[in-house]
Amino acid sequence: MILGACGARVRVVVACQGTDICPQALGDTQSLLKVLDERFYGRYGVPHKFKMGISGCPNACAKHNENDLGFMAVIEPKLEDKDACIGCGLCVEVCPGKAIETRDEKPVFDDSKCFHDGKCIGVCPFNALIASRSGWQVFAGGKWGRRPQLGLPIANLVATSQIPDMVEKILATYIKLAGKRERLGELINRLGLEKFCKEVF
Ligand code: SF4
Ligand code: SF4
Repeated sequence: MILGACGARVRVVVACQGTDICPQALGDTQSLLKVLDERFYGRYGVPHKFKMGISGCPNACAKHNENDLGFMAVIEPKLEDKDACIGCGLCVEVCPGKAIETRDEKPVFDDSKCFHDGKCIGVCPFNALIASRSGWQVFAGGKWGRRPQLGLPIANLVATSQIPDMVEKILATYIKLAGKRERLGELINRLGLEKFCKEVF
């Protein structure tokens, strides 16, 4: 029997069902869960509790950004088949970030506004759009309880294979710089996100 971890340890990793079941899913949350669980669950030596959550899309059912580290599946859209696109504008209309404009009757993407949720790809009636890249947006410093705060994005479109080493680096930085019983979010508040990211990456 595996007991749940408590105290200053890496706690049980939580994930939504992802591509196993959910039609909205953009990523395989269960595979990432398994990898993180096997490598990190129950680890001692962190200054305080350390929680991780994984959501398969921006609907955020697993509340990933209320955890010390959160992972949200994302995809990057691309106009793959220019000839198939008839310039109907459906992708422009459906985009929640207003990240697409039409030039010469073809969609053009502004990555800085893109939510990477794949809505544009799903709505195109002619399959002109594809996901050119997929991965995880990574959030750090979230927590719940008496003084809740949301995690802040620190990396985007990270491949599943790169996540465990990234978590290892973040844990090492947390252990090195945090005071006793300081949560990761409190460390980030004290250092500033930019300095924290410089330490990690
Ligand atoms: S977060 Fe997205 S993928 Fe996960 S269960 Fe909710 S809607 Fe489905
Ligand atoms: S929805 Fe498809 S066909 Fe319509 S403008 Fe966008 S890419 Fe072109």
